[in-house]
Amino acid sequence: MYENILRHPGPTPIPKKVQLAMNHDIISHRSNEFVKLYRETIELVKPVFGTKQDILLLPSGGTAALEAAAVNTVSAGENVVVITVGAFGDYFVSICEKYGFHVHKLEKEWGQACTAKELREFLQPLKDIKAVFVTYNETSTGILNPIAELAQVVREETDALCIVDGVSCIGGAPAEMDAWGIDILITGSQKAMMLPPGLSLVSVSERAWKVIEENKAPSYYLNLLSYHSWAEKGMTPNTPTVTLIYGLHEVCKLIEEEGGFKKTIARHELLKNMVRHAMNALNIELLTTDEHASPTITAIMAPKGIALGDFLSHLKQQYHLDFAGGLGHLQGKIFRFGHMGYCFPSDILQAVSLMEAALQDFEYDFVPGAGVRAAQEVFLAAQQNKIATIK
Ligand SMILES: *Cc1c(COP(=O)(O)O)cnc(C)c1O
Repeated sequence: MYENILRHPGPTPIPKKVQLAMNHDIISHRSNEFVKLYRETIELVKPVFGTKQDILLLPSGGTAALEAAAVNTVSAGENVVVITVGAFGDYFVSICEKYGFHVHKLEKEWGQACTAKELREFLQPLKDIKAVFVTYNETSTGILNPIAELAQVVREETDALCIVDGVSCIGGAPAEMDAWGIDILITGSQKAMMLPPGLSLVSVSERAWKVIEENKAPSYYLNLLSYHSWAEKGMTPNTPTVTLIYGLHEVCKLIEEEGGFKKTIARHELLKNMVRHAMNALNIELLTTDEHASPTITAIMAPKGIALGDFLSHLKQQYHLDFAGGLGHLQGKIFRFGHMGYCFPSDILQAVSLMEAALQDFEYDFVPGAGVRAAQEVFLAAQQNKIATIK
């Protein structure tokens, strides 16, 4: 009877209107109807990336898009820098190593961000760096790297391309690809984009196209030049995930309906603040400081004295609330509260309230209602600001 309340950092819930839009009859991807859908969708999604460049649609998960960015720009033996602050930065390292790139790894402790100063010092002694790979939002720790500053450092210190994995935040975090000088920006469908898994979005700068054209490394299904040339015709080289593109079109409409992308970003900020204040009020520690905290996912330490695995399965079985556990060495130490995409203040109030119920079941020492109250205070303050601006 009860529906699972999915509060993961991806996959995430799908809005009803998007589900309905995806119920569309399948059309041929070589039809005029598809070209119209494709072109409209690409125009609508550009503000979410902050770009005037084309956005390519790959029929794939986010990992394939990361791989595409790597294999299209760099050849075996060339130097790259990979900034890794967690499990998803390590993905980039693995991809680059598999393709035989010479990887210079800038590694930070999990739970920390990479600062502009650290990147500058790391880059200064290096030479002939072809690309710098960086995760914008580290999904394993809930860290948002200061990507605008990092991209600027890459520009100032090197001729390298700045390639950004935005899979778990594009759609919920600010993105000014062109203004920040990002060369390739990537996201996937099932995180903040409110869609099922299976579609990835890649945008490429003019500078990066030049590098890609000259790159010798072969690729076929992930060849971005072939996506690029088909995009001019309003199509993709192979059969695309038509259903998900109908969904993406509707997602963009919903963002417009919310009042534009800035409003969507502001909502994510609010959700983040609600969660963080609630956990503080419950005396439950957070993995990261406020400064670099992600607007789309919060990593939360196990409540003191509680076995985390038992707590999470109890929450799911008893209250249908589904959080994600920790990855790698943080497994059993943290859980991850996803608040991206189709998520609203009411969802946070609900999740915190159910968490409190479970905390009582585990006889955790706290004032019942304290977390909900704290979240509600943050929500009300934001509402009152809005009311004040209306007046
Ligand atoms: C989820 C995620 C990926 C991988 O995406 P898949 O669709 O699972 O292939 C890559 N990077 C980040 C930051 C992610 O959150």
